[in-house]
Amino acid sequence: RIAVFGSANMDLVAYVPTAPRLGETVTGSAFRTVPGGKGANQAVAAARAGGAVTMIGAVGADAFGPQLRTSLAESGVDTSGLRTCDEASGIAHIVVDGQGSNSIIVVPGANGTVTGLSAGDEQRLAATDLLLLQLEIPLPGVLAAARAARAHGVRVVLTPAPAQPLPAEILAATDLLVPNEHEAAALTGRSDPAEAAAELLTTVPEVVVTLGAAGSLYATRGAEPVYVPARKVTAEDTTAAGDTFVGALAVAAGEGRTMPAALAWASAASALSVQRRGASAAMPHREEIDASTAT
Ligand code: ADP
Repeated sequence: RIAVFGSANMDLVAYVPTAPRLGETVTGSAFRTVPGGKGANQAVAAARAGGAVTMIGAVGADAFGPQLRTSLAESGVDTSGLRTCDEASGIAHIVVDGQGSNSIIVVPGANGTVTGLSAGDEQRLAATDLLLLQLEIPLPGVLAAARAARAHGVRVVLTPAPAQPLPAEILAATDLLVPNEHEAAALTGRSDPAEAAAELLTTVPEVVVTLGAAGSLYATRGAEPVYVPARKVTAEDTTAAGDTFVGALAVAAGEGRTMPAALAWASAASALSVQRRGASAAMPHREEIDASTAT
């Protein structure tokens, strides 16, 4: 069983030829609402990859709240740990211009209320084997979940995104840290991923650095790092590649695969997702991942 303690957002995406300047109004070509947020994305990725997943967090008592809940449930995620609170649901307001460049405003809303454990969360965490954390909720919430999980012998996996300085107490409660290469560099000041991983190993026992199309790197204390190549595919949309990777990695690790084997399976899952448009909508189901790794 896997628990995700983190964010759920509605992404509000407007497509425009040219992004508006301050004070300017422009006419867009399309608008979409897409369920997102790193927590919810990792939950969907893990559930589709075959995991039994519980999402813990908060949505608002607005129109987006039930939509976010339904979207998770449609992928098989248990949403009984998703509170409904008085704040607005978290949103990401995204403007995509004709070049595909974007500018984004995130309003945490309900996610900002997840500052600690709520009623029932401790039991939810205790009933799982692995906890997925990200940094789109307040750090005290991340820390409380990590510590509670630790106390129950649950493996704590942290994606340190969006990049920000991490309090030592959070790293001390983390078993596996999964930064992308930019986050690894931001955390350590080292641009070489292997060097960054080596430095991170002084505070956490296991590190996976994802390297986009260049693959991923697994490092643990007392062993040489292992590089796992990415699959050679034509990328259509790499949104949430990292969340797909982590969700699948959690499932594979929970099934007792070795970490290098789990990274290879997660690479296959994320390679499938980058070939399709969208974030959680592009995430592959277990049968597809297995089929793509059978060859
Ligand atoms: P993030 O989305 O967090 O920035 P990455 O870009 O490092 O994460 O991607 C995570 C994983 O997804 C990579 O380790 C790789 O396995 C896979 N991936 C990402 N981009 C591609 C790509 N263009 N082709 C194949 N696999 C990819």
